[in-house]
Amino acid sequence: RELPGDPRSDAIPREVLNACYTKVSPSVEVEDPQLVAWSQSVADLLDIDPKEFERPDFPYIFSGATPLVGGMPYAQCYGGHQFGMWAGQLGDGRAITLGELLNSKSERWELQLKGAGKTPYSRFADGLAVLRSSIREFLCSEAIHSLRIPTTRALCLVTTGKFVTRDMFYDGNPKDEPGAIVCRVAQSFLRFGSYQIHASRGKFDIVHALADYAIRHHFPHIENMSRSESLSFNTGKEDDSIVDLTSNKYAAWTVEVAELTASLVARWQGVGFTHGVLNTDNMSVLGLTIDYGPFGFLDAFDPSFTPNTTDLPGRRYCFANQPDMGLWNIAQFASTLSSAQLINDKEANYAMERYGTKFMDEYQSIMTRKLGLPKYNKQLISKLLNNMAVDKVDYTNFFRLLSNIKADPSIPEDQLLVPLKAVLLDIGKERKEAWASWVKSYIDELSSSDISNEERKASMNSVNPKYILRNYLCQSAIDAAETGDFGEVQRLLKVMERPYDDQPGMEKYARLPPAWAYRPGVCMLSCSS
Ligand code: AMP
Ligand code: MG
Ligand code: MG
Repeated sequence: RELPGDPRSDAIPREVLNACYTKVSPSVEVEDPQLVAWSQSVADLLDIDPKEFERPDFPYIFSGATPLVGGMPYAQCYGGHQFGMWAGQLGDGRAITLGELLNSKSERWELQLKGAGKTPYSRFADGLAVLRSSIREFLCSEAIHSLRIPTTRALCLVTTGKFVTRDMFYDGNPKDEPGAIVCRVAQSFLRFGSYQIHASRGKFDIVHALADYAIRHHFPHIENMSRSESLSFNTGKEDDSIVDLTSNKYAAWTVEVAELTASLVARWQGVGFTHGVLNTDNMSVLGLTIDYGPFGFLDAFDPSFTPNTTDLPGRRYCFANQPDMGLWNIAQFASTLSSAQLINDKEANYAMERYGTKFMDEYQSIMTRKLGLPKYNKQLISKLLNNMAVDKVDYTNFFRLLSNIKADPSIPEDQLLVPLKAVLLDIGKERKEAWASWVKSYIDELSSSDISNEERKASMNSVNPKYILRNYLCQSAIDAAETGDFGEVQRLLKVMERPYDDQPGMEKYARLPPAWAYRPGVCMLSCSS
């Protein structure tokens, strides 16, 4: 089915009714645009020859100043719940899709410029992006991918050569910042909000068409699901409790979206990633991490950590709340499909139930592997996280060092904490005892398995990253780039592409944040970028 689109190409902010997208071309102004960095692995995905990046017109095409031959630029219409409240139409206010590219494996990839000028969805804002936020999005997309977490990708980053005014600085004075554009790449940028907007307007036929579209293009196994396959599930509840997913492809799809989302959030929790703005317009139906704004990786473990100043004091989207927020968002998605009568209440509830089960399964398995345990041990893990929160232990470096502990119950009491001393800083006698007691029970648990210390270390290091994109590292790269030196962005990209490898000579990228990292604007950011 053809999706309804709005053929008008102007970018006047308006309510776009009865359409999933609007044809609109980039309108950003450039002056000597420069290529800051590009990702080899995304270029490979798209079969783009590295030489293309050297073309003098490359920064013009990837800033949107020169049209991409064969492209069909458009911006998507979507809505969303922002911080729990229905916000109505949002849409691609500064992202413009250039078109889709079919690679040699017949995979279809959508290329999108973020910051390329106004669209009908720009509302009161300027449609632009600054270098600071574009570097963060570019680097983190690739860092998250290398951590084996599903995400939209970033092909390249160019500066526009023009300045953009932003007021995120805390002295109340707006500042002119260099403008920039990231080329984002994904198989689809459809969000929960892409469905919600049409349901909110009572346009259920559009919800239906867009659901068919997503299933046909991105979930073909559901489209082709044979009705004879036994895919029914007993929900364990009384009365007709069987949910037969083969009889309703929309129900099968909702369940799959719920499971993809659960698995995504479990992986974020595993590496200590806080997205920062889990509004329903930032929830991908493919279960991708989407929209890198005020995100942050945990340094010191703190369940209530939020990098987003706009989320204070409520901390709705803090680290520990992400699993619940994922479920809240799935509930909105399921209720949207159910309002369009694509699924019934029982199927909607079942999808939510599957979210919970999938999240717990994945999270437990991730934490078990992070600790190198022979089997999941709830008590040991919650005790550890509790200790880490009390002593503000660095989440990443702790797990990396933990693999040095030997499964040897005869280690003398006063030697137990030696492998961890670099992360157990400034702790008093009483806390040392608490940690020693935890390490003891950890060693006991490890001793019940016959895997060697070396094997366990290798397997733990393959799931516990040494290098994560800490906010202060991003900030150093931003500071250099704002003076025209893009070397640090490129070096950080290379380091973050191999987060699990030791990378001799790169140890400084695994260091704890320096004191300056705690100044406003480095670890704490607002949505404005
Ligand atoms: P976010 O909080 O980043 O998910 O953005 C929410 C909405 O604001 C989306 O519809 C964005 O497209 C829009 N938006 C954010 N920044 C800008 C901007 N500078 N210009 C136009 N629209 C924007
Ligand atoms: Mg967004
Ligand atoms: Mg954003």
